[in-house]
Amino acid sequence: MKRILLTITACFAWLLFSNHKADEGMFPLSELKNLDLKKAGLRMDPLALYNPNGISQIDAIVRVGGCTGSFVSNDGLIVTNHHCAFGFVAAISDTINNYINTGFLAKDRAAEVEAKGLVCKITASYADVSSDVLMGTQSTADPVERLRMIAANIKAITEKENKANPGLQCEVSEMFTGKTYVLFRYQLLKDVRLVYVPARSIGEYGGEKDNWVWPRHSGDFAFLRAYVAPDGTPAGFNKNNIPYQPKKFLKVNVKGINENDFVFILGYPGRTFRNQPAAFYEYHESYMLKYISDLYDWQIAKMEALSEGNESLKIKYAGKIKQLANVTKNYKGKLQGFRRVGLTQKKKTEEAEMNAFIQANKDLKSQYGGVVADINKLYAPIISEAPRNLFFDFIYNVSPTLQMGAAIDNYKAAFNEVKSKQEQAAFLSKQIPNLKNLYNRLAGNMDIAFEKEAIHKLIEDASQLSGSNKVKAIEDFVKKFPSSEARAKEINSWFAKTKITDGKFMLNLLADSSKAVFGLKDPFVAFANPLNKEINEADAVDKIREGSLNGLLGRYADAKNAFKQKQFIPDANGTLRFTYGYVRGYNPNDGEYNAPFTTLGGVIEKEDNKDYELLAVIKELYAAKDIDPYMHPALNDLPINFLYNLDTTGGNSGSPVMDADGNLVGVNFDRAYTATINDYAWNEAYSRSVAVDIRYVLWVLKKVAKADHVLSEMGI
Ligand code: ASP
Repeated sequence: MKRILLTITACFAWLLFSNHKADEGMFPLSELKNLDLKKAGLRMDPLALYNPNGISQIDAIVRVGGCTGSFVSNDGLIVTNHHCAFGFVAAISDTINNYINTGFLAKDRAAEVEAKGLVCKITASYADVSSDVLMGTQSTADPVERLRMIAANIKAITEKENKANPGLQCEVSEMFTGKTYVLFRYQLLKDVRLVYVPARSIGEYGGEKDNWVWPRHSGDFAFLRAYVAPDGTPAGFNKNNIPYQPKKFLKVNVKGINENDFVFILGYPGRTFRNQPAAFYEYHESYMLKYISDLYDWQIAKMEALSEGNESLKIKYAGKIKQLANVTKNYKGKLQGFRRVGLTQKKKTEEAEMNAFIQANKDLKSQYGGVVADINKLYAPIISEAPRNLFFDFIYNVSPTLQMGAAIDNYKAAFNEVKSKQEQAAFLSKQIPNLKNLYNRLAGNMDIAFEKEAIHKLIEDASQLSGSNKVKAIEDFVKKFPSSEARAKEINSWFAKTKITDGKFMLNLLADSSKAVFGLKDPFVAFANPLNKEINEADAVDKIREGSLNGLLGRYADAKNAFKQKQFIPDANGTLRFTYGYVRGYNPNDGEYNAPFTTLGGVIEKEDNKDYELLAVIKELYAAKDIDPYMHPALNDLPINFLYNLDTTGGNSGSPVMDADGNLVGVNFDRAYTATINDYAWNEAYSRSVAVDIRYVLWVLKKVAKADHVLSEMGI
C-alpha cells in the first residue's frame, strides 16, 4: 500500500512539474524583466534577483579568475570550485606541506594564505554603449579600418569610464558581433586568500576518468576570502587588509534540493557560438574540433610514451596532459553532439528558411537580401583553406623553441621596416623587452625530446596538403629533404645546433635591448623565415575577413530578429548571466536513464585505489553511518552531486546553484558528456550540468575538515 501511495505521489509530482520547462538561455541582466520567473517556480521577488537601484542577489556573485563564486558570509567568504583554487594550492605546496594531497585549512583568519595572482570582480553596473563603439564605422567600407575604429572607440570609452570611476575597472563587452556593445563596471578584489581547499581525493575524486561524466562523485568545492584595504578600497595583498564586506551574501539551505525542484544560477559563462552562421558550424564540426582533438590525442600519447618508466617526467607532464585531456574529451563530446543532432545541417536549414523569408519581403530584402550569401562567400575560403590555416595555428604552438625562432624572425622583419636611427632606438628599447618576456614565458616549456617529434609530425601532415592548402615553405623543405627520415634527421640537427634552448646565452643576448639578437644565426629562425611570410600573409587576409564578418554579423542578427519576430539573447562572453531550470535526470543514450543524484554510498563503491582514492576517514564515517546527523536526518545516504537542465558552459565553474528562494543548494562544476555541445546548442534532452550538493560540502566541512569556524561563519 505504501509503495502504491508513493508511486501515485511521484506521478502526481511529475504531473505538477512536467509543464515546467527550462529555457535555453544564459540571460544577461537586461533580459530578466522579460522572463516569467514566478511561473517558472521562483519564489523570491524577481526584483530581488537584480535591482539596479538597490541591493540584490547579483551583489553576492563574484567572478573568481576564470571561474565564478559567491559570497557566503558578511566577511567576504567565497565558495567556488576546488579546480578553480587548485593552482593556488599547488603554488603553496611542496613535499613537506603537500596541501594538494592533504587539503588546506586555515584554522583562523591569520592562517589564511594568499592566492597569488587571483583577482576577483563584482559587476557593479552596466550601460549600453553600442552607438559609441560603432561611431564612424558606417562611413567606411574598409573592413580593417572598421575593426580599427571599433578598437579605438572601445579604448576611448574605457579610458574615460576608468577615469570617471576610480576604484572600478571598466570593460566593454561585445554582445552581438558588430552590433551590440555593453560597458561593464567591475569592483575589483585583489587580495584573495585560501580558507579551505579539500584534499585532491575529495575535490577531484575520479580525476580525468570522471571529467565531463555523469554519474559523478566529486567534492569539487573550495572556500576563499576577499580582502580590501582598511578604507574599503581594493588593494593587493597586505596583512593589514580587512575582510571585504559584500553588499549581499547567500544563505545556505542546509536541507538541500530535491528532484524536479526549480533552481537557478548566476555566473560568468565564458563563450558560446549559438548566434554564429551555419558556415561557422561547418568549419567547427568538419575541421577545427577534429583537428585539435586528434592533435591533442597525439600529444598525450607522445608524452605518455616519452615518460614511460620515468617518474619525474611523468610529474612534469601531468599538468599538461590534464589540460589537453580536458579539451580533447570535451571536443569529442561536442563532435558526438554535432552528429547526433545533425546540428550543422539543422543550422543550414534554419538559415535557408530565414533567407527565404527575407527574400520574400521587399523591405527586408533591400536591407538584408545579400547577408547570407555574403557570409557564405566569406566562409568558402575559410573552410576550403582550413587544413592549411590550422597547421599555421599549431606549428609554433607545439614547439616553444620554434615559436621563439619565429618571433625573432618577425621582430627582425619589423625592425628592418623602421628607417630613422631614432625610431630604431625607440623600437629596440620597447620591443626587445617584449621579446625577452616572451622568452621567459617559453623557456620553461621547452622540451627537446617532445618538440622534435611534434615538429616532425606537423611537417609530415602539412606535406600531404594539396591545392590551395599547400604550404610553399614545407614544399621547399620536402624538396631538400625528400624522405621522412631525412626530415626527422634535419629537425634533430636543429636542436643540436640551436642557441635558443640555452637560457643563459639567450637572456644575455636579450639583456641590453640592442639589435644583437637579430644577428643570431639559428636553424629555427631560418626555418621560420619563409613560413612566417606565408603565415603573415594569411593573417592579413584573416583580418580583412574578420572585419567584413563584423559588419555582416550585425546585420545577420537583425535579419534573424526580423525572421523570428523576437529578440534573442547574446552568446556567452564572460559577462554575468542568469539561467534557470530544474533538477532532473535524463536519458544520455538509448536505453539508459541517469538519475539526478549520486550518494556517498556511490563514492565508497567506486574506490579502486587508482582512479578513485579515498581518505580513510570518509570510509570510517560511512561505515559508522555518520552521514550527517543534524542537517537532514530523514536521508539514508548523503547526496554528493546532482544534475539539472540549466544552460551553462565553461566559466560557470563555481557558480552558486540556488533554490526558488535564492538560497545556496549546490556549487556548479561541470557538465555531462552530452552537454559539452551546449556551446553550440542547448537542448532539454541532453543538456545537463553538474553541481556538488551543499549537503556534501557541509558534511566535509564538519566531519572531515572539522572546520566548525567556517560553518558557523556561514550561520550553520
Ligand atoms: N568545468 C567547467 C569550468 O571549469 C564548467 C563547464 O564547462 O561546464 O568552467
